[in-house]
Amino acid sequence: MKAIIPFSDLYFDRMKSLVHTPDELKKEGYRLEEFWPDEIQGLRRCRDCLVRIKIKKPKKKDTDGAYNAIPVIKPMDDEFMKGDKQARLSSLVPSPAKSETSFDEEDGGVPLLQPEQPEDKLGDTESADKEEDLIIFDDEETDRGCDGKSEVTEKEEDLLIFDEETRKGCDAKTEVIEKEQEILSKVEGAIEQISLVEDDEAEKEKGDEVPSKGEAPVEGICLGQAEEAKNEKKKEEEKKKPKCRFHPGAVVNKYFICCNKFLNTPGCVERENHVSRTYQPGELEATWQMHETPANRTHWTRRAVALDCEMGIASTGESELIRVSLIDYFSGEVLLDSLVYPTVPMLHFSTKYSGVTRGMIEYARHRGHCICGRDQARQLLWRYINSDTIVVLHGGKGDLLALRWIHKAVIDTYMVESSRKDGCEKRSLKYLAEAVLGVAIQRGAGHDSVEDAMACRGLVHWYVGNGP
Ligand SMILES: [Zn+2]
Ligand SMILES: [Zn+2]
Repeated sequence: MKAIIPFSDLYFDRMKSLVHTPDELKKEGYRLEEFWPDEIQGLRRCRDCLVRIKIKKPKKKDTDGAYNAIPVIKPMDDEFMKGDKQARLSSLVPSPAKSETSFDEEDGGVPLLQPEQPEDKLGDTESADKEEDLIIFDDEETDRGCDGKSEVTEKEEDLLIFDEETRKGCDAKTEVIEKEQEILSKVEGAIEQISLVEDDEAEKEKGDEVPSKGEAPVEGICLGQAEEAKNEKKKEEEKKKPKCRFHPGAVVNKYFICCNKFLNTPGCVERENHVSRTYQPGELEATWQMHETPANRTHWTRRAVALDCEMGIASTGESELIRVSLIDYFSGEVLLDSLVYPTVPMLHFSTKYSGVTRGMIEYARHRGHCICGRDQARQLLWRYINSDTIVVLHGGKGDLLALRWIHKAVIDTYMVESSRKDGCEKRSLKYLAEAVLGVAIQRGAGHDSVEDAMACRGLVHWYVGNGP
């Protein structure tokens, strides 16, 4: 797979035909624009169980009156959109005091972060599962499986109920969330009726990466029906579950000291609602600032590259970049392969999947052999990538998001495989590398992002040669 792929215009034209349209990317959950202030408010997480909190509209039947009373909110007009971003931000961000009142802050809000947990923590999937990011994106792991999609679609439909007016340059999901937020801030009187709900814990099938609690998809079965039934089942299970569940105690030798239960045991404390973490003014905005690839070309700039990242979980519950690998598509040269020392406190390094331990990261930093944080990683990638460079990746929306990077020339092999008429039902990189290329990857403990990027490059090469 490391062989050179000879460049030709014909080859490159075929490759360009595989590049997804912005609409396709958005539909898949790629972030192609900066977060709007009200979306950013929707990125809060529960301080205890770390699940992403969203504010749900009240149930229609008992709140018809309240909803009718909501003033019609005018969509932002073009002039507004053109205006100064800072001004928009400040005019739109609810004051911290006001937004705090929407949440059930119990005790002055000193965030009780989850205790540090061993790197080989089996419960990785717990937090990853809870990263229910249907609103804007999914985490890396969820990108690579097959089954999460129908849940997301279902929830989109759920949300789309009161989506009427559209705003330019903003996808439907975004608008709905914005409206929810706007409505919330307008209807102060109705605030008690609005309950905080977690985004459902989607126990998504994550390909081979994360062991699924549900049943694996059986090849040959109509997936639509199977998923429907599965979703129904999940919904019912969801209703029975308390909303917020966590362990207040630290982990010692893989056991929680609060209840003396093993790592992956569900939380011993249950609460009816989540409690938002307390965020400093501007913290969320700074955390989620996105950056678009510059257009300038240098002699370093490549025509196409393959990218793969490894992620851990920050103490906020967010995915955080810990390793980045970049390969020149045509030459196969490894342009960049480095551990990334996160600039935020980490909960764990998802070692089981990332292959990266805290020790490795600390050692690399000690030796000065690592990149410092996602922003520096992005800058280093941009040495080789301009806005025209085709970036090849597999289920890469999480990778780009972890880099806070907006890039539009993308070939996502997960998406290509999904759109092929005789594509595989299983679309994990491991499976496809084996089925399509006959190459076994991800055999050892954890992934090797160079190996994964190389496999992804091999897949695109196959698609170019054999048609998508
Ligand atoms: Zn416990
Ligand atoms: Zn919670």
